[in-house]
Amino acid sequence: MKTHNIQNNFVSSCALICFSLTATGHPPVFKQQPLPYAYDALEPYIDALTMEIHYSRHHAAYAKNFNESLQSLSDVPAKVEEIMKNISHYPVAVRNNGGGYYNHSLYWEIMAPKGGGEPSGKVAEAIRRDFGSFDAFKDAFSKAASARFGSGWAWLVSDKGKLAVCSTPNQDNPLMDIAEVKGAPILCIDVWEHAYYLKYQNKRPDYIQAFWNVIHWKKVNELYEKSL
Ligand code: MN
Repeated sequence: MKTHNIQNNFVSSCALICFSLTATGHPPVFKQQPLPYAYDALEPYIDALTMEIHYSRHHAAYAKNFNESLQSLSDVPAKVEEIMKNISHYPVAVRNNGGGYYNHSLYWEIMAPKGGGEPSGKVAEAIRRDFGSFDAFKDAFSKAASARFGSGWAWLVSDKGKLAVCSTPNQDNPLMDIAEVKGAPILCIDVWEHAYYLKYQNKRPDYIQAFWNVIHWKKVNELYEKSL
C-alpha cells in the first residue's frame, strides 16, 4: 500500500513537471482589449448597433480565431506586431485572424467621441511636409479608402517619420512583410461593409466623410511620435 502511494506521488509529480514544461511552449493568449468608450459614443457618425456588432461579434471572432490559429505553433512572439512582421512564415489563418485582431484594436483606439478637427503636434507638421496640406492628405486618404475594391482597410503609415497613405485587402496591414507599402500604422479606416452597412448601406463615401469627425488626433500623434 505504501509503495503504491509513493508510486502515485511519483507519477503525479512527473505529470506536473511534464505539464509545466509543455505549458512554457504554449503560444501567448491575445485578449480583446475593452472598447475605450460606449457603443453609442461615436453617434451620429458611427451608430451604436454597428459598433456593438462590430466589436462584440466581428472583432471578438477575430480574437478567438487568432488564438485558435496559434494553438499548434511553437515559438510564437508575445507581441502581435512581431507576428505581423513575419506573417509570410505563418498559416493563412494567422494572417486573416491576426490581422483582424490587430487592425480592429488600432481602429477603436484612433477614434474618440468629440474627435475630428485638424491634427496638431508633430504629426500635423509631418502631414504638411509629406502631403503639402491637411486637405491634400484628407483627399489622398479618402481616395485610398473609397478605391479599395471589396473588403479592406486604408492606412496612414509612418516609415520612421516619413508618412504615406496606402490600402490593403481583407485583414492585411502595413506591418506585414507581404504588404506593398510598409510602415508603422498610425491611422486606419475599416472599409469592410460590416463597418458601415447598417447606417450607410452602399454609400461608402458617406461613411468615409463621417469618419473625419471621430478621428482621435491626439492618439494618432502619439503613435506617430512612437514611430520616430
Ligand atoms: Mn471590421
